[in-house]
Amino acid sequence: MKDDLKKLLLMQDIDSRIDRVTAEMDEIPREKLIHERELESQKTDYEREKKKLEGIKESSRECNENKESSEKMLAEFKNKLLQMKTNEEYRAMMDQIEFTEKKISDFDIKILEKMYEDEQGEKDLLEARKIWERNAKRAEKRQDILDGQLEVLKENTEELMTERNEISSDIGKRLLDKYEQLRAAGRGLVVVGIQKGACGGCLTNIPPQAAVEISQGVTFICPICGRFVVWKDDSSMAGV
Ligand SMILES: [Zn+2]
Repeated sequence: MKDDLKKLLLMQDIDSRIDRVTAEMDEIPREKLIHERELESQKTDYEREKKKLEGIKESSRECNENKESSEKMLAEFKNKLLQMKTNEEYRAMMDQIEFTEKKISDFDIKILEKMYEDEQGEKDLLEARKIWERNAKRAEKRQDILDGQLEVLKENTEELMTERNEISSDIGKRLLDKYEQLRAAGRGLVVVGIQKGACGGCLTNIPPQAAVEISQGVTFICPICGRFVVWKDDSSMAGV
């Protein structure tokens, strides 16, 4: 293989490594976003529980107020009862009293229910807060780790870029341009090995004579995909 192609192959390896590092770097903000969304949803859960509990407390307060005013009314009715002159008036007032007593007893049941709901609501709120806080701490630690990883990956990229620049400055411009052009087309590897007598990129069969020349180090460009086909350690002829 010609020296230029060997260097190109070396550069291709570096480019593959740069691609992997870049992919890893791209993963980091994605993971961060997942954590942020999770936290946001747990914060929403907490706020929902808080609102629910406020609603319970509000309705419990209303029940107590209603009960109080009913009790005042009841006391008034009982006072008036003594002033009733006819049986009819007396009976009507007794009905009012019974009705109000029933209302008070209903309020008592409701107040008790609200007490249970309040107790459960406090527990739910505490639980939601614990989950949110625990996760926030964990996410913070994870963010620190990810930031550290990002730093390392950035350094790796810089090192690889330096290495790449050194090699590319040694490769002929025409070959380099062709390489960059093929790479920019996004079809993966530009320099491929001959595999079972075929182009390792597009799998098109290469004439036996050309294959022999490739094995002897002649530069060959696949007529179908335009890739450089070289003889690599794992290369083989057709039918082998
Ligand atoms: Zn090809």
